[in-house]
Order: sequence, then C-alpha cells, then structure tokens
Amino acid sequence: MTVEQTLSIIKPDGVQKNLIGEIVNRFEKAGLEIVAQRMMRLSTEQARGFYEVHKDRPFYGDLVSYMTSGPVVVQVLQGEDAIAENRRIMGATNPADADPGTIRADFAESIEENVVHGSDGPDTAETEIRFFFGDDGICPRTR
Ligand code: GDP
Repeated sequence: MTVEQTLSIIKPDGVQKNLIGEIVNRFEKAGLEIVAQRMMRLSTEQARGFYEVHKDRPFYGDLVSYMTSGPVVVQVLQGEDAIAENRRIMGATNPADADPGTIRADFAESIEENVVHGSDGPDTAETEIRFFFGDDGICPRTR
C-alpha cells in the first residue's frame, strides 16, 4: 500500500445538484483526506487543455461545453491507494455500468454528465494536480 495523491473534480452537474458535501463525505468516510480544494469556473481553454487526451474523440466538443457550463470543485485527495480508491468510489464512466452505491450509480445522468472526475493513474494524477494547484498549492496534513 502506498500513500498517493489524486485529482478529483466535482463536475458542473454535481455542483448544480448540491452534492458537494455528499461527495466529499464519501471520500472522507473512506479515509481519504482533502489536501487542496477550490471552486472555479473552467475557461474553454482550461477545459480543452485538461481533456486534450480526448481531442480526437467525437464527444470532445460536448465534453468541453459540459465542463464549462457551471462551476466545478477541484480537489486533491490523499490516502492509501488514493487513485484506485477514488475511482472505486466514483464508479464506472457510464452510470449504467457503475456498481451500486458508487457516486455515478447514485447520481449520474449519462456517460457524459457523470458528476465526478478522478485521475486514472500515477502519471495522470501528477500532471492533473499540477494543472490546477501548481507546485505549492497542496496543504500537507500536519495533524
Ligand atoms: P473517466 O476517466 O471515467 O472520467 O472517463 P474518460 O477519461 O474515458 O472520459 C472523460 C469524460 O468524458 C467522462 O467522464 C465523460 O464525462 C466524458 N465521456 C466519456 N466517454 C463519453 C462518450 O462516449 N460520450 C460522451 N458524450 N461523453 C463521454
């Protein structure tokens, strides 16, 4: 087991549905700690950059529109196996495939409007955390 950090986003539909506390509670109950957190409205440029890996996919334009449609909460979760743990709590991309009790099974409307984002591996986590929080935006837990 390794202590990891991972990027989590509560997407515009999650914020609209007033699920910030519910979602954070699920992470905290699972033992993950929040070490950085900010509410922001993504610019088109930021959303395009963040999802650049999907730029050739047919849904890229819709994804960018969705991610800029309202404020999001970006946060860094820390804990044992935080990357996999976050993705387990989120559930599968398509809510129809998500395990019962996961965030996406409980709250997502569609494969696009699926409430949360989570980094999918150590390299992505590092890049995504730096994308939003730079080199010094994390608050280490000292107690
Ligand atoms: P994730 O890691 O589970 O978020 O999934 P991906 O990295 O594959 O996709 C990124 C995001 O793009 C997803 O969370 C959805 O919001 C959106 N997305 C993925 N696949 C589709 C799709 O087939 N159609 C649409 N409209 N959106 C999609």
